[in-house]
Amino acid sequence: MTQWLVYLDTDRIKEYLFATSVLSDIRQASGLLDRLNREDTLTVIQEVYPSFNEKNPTQYVYAAGGSALVILPDEETAEGAIRAVERLYRQTTVTASITGVKVPISDGELQSRFGERVRWARHLLRERKAEKGKGHTLPVAPYMHFCDACAQLPAAYYDAERYELICRACKIKRSGRSEARRGLWEKVKSVSQKRPLDAPSEWKALIEETIGLSVSSYPEDLDFDFDALGESAKRNGYIALVYADGNRMGQVLEGLNTVEEYSRFARLVDDLLLRITYRGLARRIPNHRKQPFFEVLMAGGDDLMIVTIPDVAFDLIIEIARDFERYSKALVEGGLSLGIGIAIAHARYPIAAMQRLATDLQKRAKRRSFETGGGSVVDFAVVTAAGSEDLERIRDEVLTEKGFAFPPPDGVPYRLTQRPYTLDELQKLLDHVRKFKGVGFPHSQLHTMYEALFHSPVQASLVAIQTVGRARESHRDVLWAFFQDFGIRTAPVLPPWRGRDDGSRDSALGDLVEIYPFL
Ligand SMILES: [Zn+2]
Repeated sequence: MTQWLVYLDTDRIKEYLFATSVLSDIRQASGLLDRLNREDTLTVIQEVYPSFNEKNPTQYVYAAGGSALVILPDEETAEGAIRAVERLYRQTTVTASITGVKVPISDGELQSRFGERVRWARHLLRERKAEKGKGHTLPVAPYMHFCDACAQLPAAYYDAERYELICRACKIKRSGRSEARRGLWEKVKSVSQKRPLDAPSEWKALIEETIGLSVSSYPEDLDFDFDALGESAKRNGYIALVYADGNRMGQVLEGLNTVEEYSRFARLVDDLLLRITYRGLARRIPNHRKQPFFEVLMAGGDDLMIVTIPDVAFDLIIEIARDFERYSKALVEGGLSLGIGIAIAHARYPIAAMQRLATDLQKRAKRRSFETGGGSVVDFAVVTAAGSEDLERIRDEVLTEKGFAFPPPDGVPYRLTQRPYTLDELQKLLDHVRKFKGVGFPHSQLHTMYEALFHSPVQASLVAIQTVGRARESHRDVLWAFFQDFGIRTAPVLPPWRGRDDGSRDSALGDLVEIYPFL
């Protein structure tokens, strides 16, 4: 018998979520998309095909992270379901959309080559999305006022609370605000209420711990904004956007043979990421009892985006990534890992730009993960001035030998950073920052070394060695230990540099100084 595999995936999720810079809009938008994905899509499919059984993994394979995979009996039903779900998204959100494709699948393929068929469907999906392109252009009349919040659609309503003329799409995002819904955090919390079906025995302790973990009192004010988050930060006013995504997920899924295996794997990865995120956040709530210090913006499948404060971001994501690696070993040989980008900026900085930066950082992290054999990798950047979110330019020009005021004549390539970092390297960097702080290392000395870094390689070494020589003993030990851990390696190389096997040199000093004020 031939059935039809239907693959649905939300279009440009981040564009929809970050259409406005208002946290409560984003919170509502992500909650809405998640409900559409996990609940309403199912309801609509059941309207098209009443005997659709959500409990049967050979029908409802999974729905998470904006995607859904279902199997329907014939082409007409499949087409009807796709149209109905596409209409559902348009009607509910106005500006968000979803694309669906269908491919025939035989009983044999359900049991032997399921992952490959899904890959084929994903390929068709990408093609269809490309055809859809940017959507329709709007008729623009001279008297038309564009939405004050998103500037994408004509304004049609007045938001008396914010004194803004807003469009239909933004009106929907703001309509639930008075109930102070907690968006995705409610969903993340729900892992404490339910046990995943056929979880591996290695997860027993994790599941027991999260089931018992209560966080009912966080936070007191449910409708906080980015400014309120920034006020909780150690470096007042700053926030961190953390964006993590599973490495080599496509490859692993492709290799799964049966629809049952596929369904179980996708559901368990989804549960795992939510569960360890919940545990990581819940463990930190007692230290921030009254203040808001995070908001979950995306969580589903192998995707996670959290806005938090910089002093929480690094340790939190290291913990989540280590947990993800550890527990996923029970799902696939060698386990899974995360590519992670962390963008730090002032709470007033446009969140859409921060999101793009975090995405670019995540891509660099994933590239290094691929090169270094697959472990989790973190890249980060601090936005200090306009233009400092142009990552290509910063990494490929400013933070290379081109960045020196007096470039070296020897033609040796330099990198003024060691980012992206593996988890062990990042942990070590954080430990060093804390040791510097622990001994009260003078910030002015760090800054002098940092400035010399951009002067010339020789000047950088001169200042670094002078600082070591002049520092008092406890300071010298800390500084020297840092240079030992992150530098030198071969005899002619002097701190703050590290000699690489390919003859190039790099330094972690700038990375240390950059995150220093935030920890
Ligand atoms: Zn709008």
